[in-house]
Amino acid sequence: TMDAADTRAWMGRFFAAFDRERQALTDLDRRSGDGDFGANLRSALGRARAALDEAPTATPGDVLDVVSTAFLHTGGTSGPLFGMWFRQLAKATRTEVVGVAELARGFADGTATVRRLGGAGPGDKTMVDALVPATEALTAATGGLADALAAAADAARAGAESTADLVANRGRASYVGEVARGVLDPGAVAVALIVESLRG
Ligand code: ADP
Ligand code: MG
Ligand code: MG
Repeated sequence: TMDAADTRAWMGRFFAAFDRERQALTDLDRRSGDGDFGANLRSALGRARAALDEAPTATPGDVLDVVSTAFLHTGGTSGPLFGMWFRQLAKATRTEVVGVAELARGFADGTATVRRLGGAGPGDKTMVDALVPATEALTAATGGLADALAAAADAARAGAESTADLVANRGRASYVGEVARGVLDPGAVAVALIVESLRG
């Protein structure tokens, strides 16, 4: 199972992974969008880090609510979408400990909300291309938490990799069409970092 301390550790690993990948994410957004993705995410995660230092958290959902609020106060398309995704995950994880079932429910609710707000489906070259397979992997998992998280991480990464071959139908990358073919979607790569960080 996973408690508030485990969730803080998850976010700590995500912050560190993002610090390592920020320039690469910015380059992807420069080639397919407007180049601000790394800066948008950095501002969200800076706020999340500072707020987590102050906020008492008793459940995974409390931790994820803090992260959600930090994203919701961020510019760019991705800020509000990640904010709402974390908000839904938080709602599903407001007990002292959570397991695969709560995480799967939260991923499903969060991903449904992102799809509703952004109007993107699988194949549109957005974060949805990583969120959907990660959610499916968690939902289908039959073993323990560690196995489920490993499967979700692999699925999110494969989903992110799949965006290279796609031409965008949503977001700024749709303005440049074929020019962004061969370029990974930065939002989908960020989802892969989030889900890989869950694995510990
Ligand atoms: P902006 O394009 O406004 O500068 P960001 O750079 O913060 O936004 O985020 C870009 C990311 O947002 C993309 O890589 C993509 O994953 C995601 N995105 C953009 N539009 C949508 C949408 N309609 N639905 C889901 N995700 C989207
Ligand atoms: Mg951008
Ligand atoms: Mg922008």
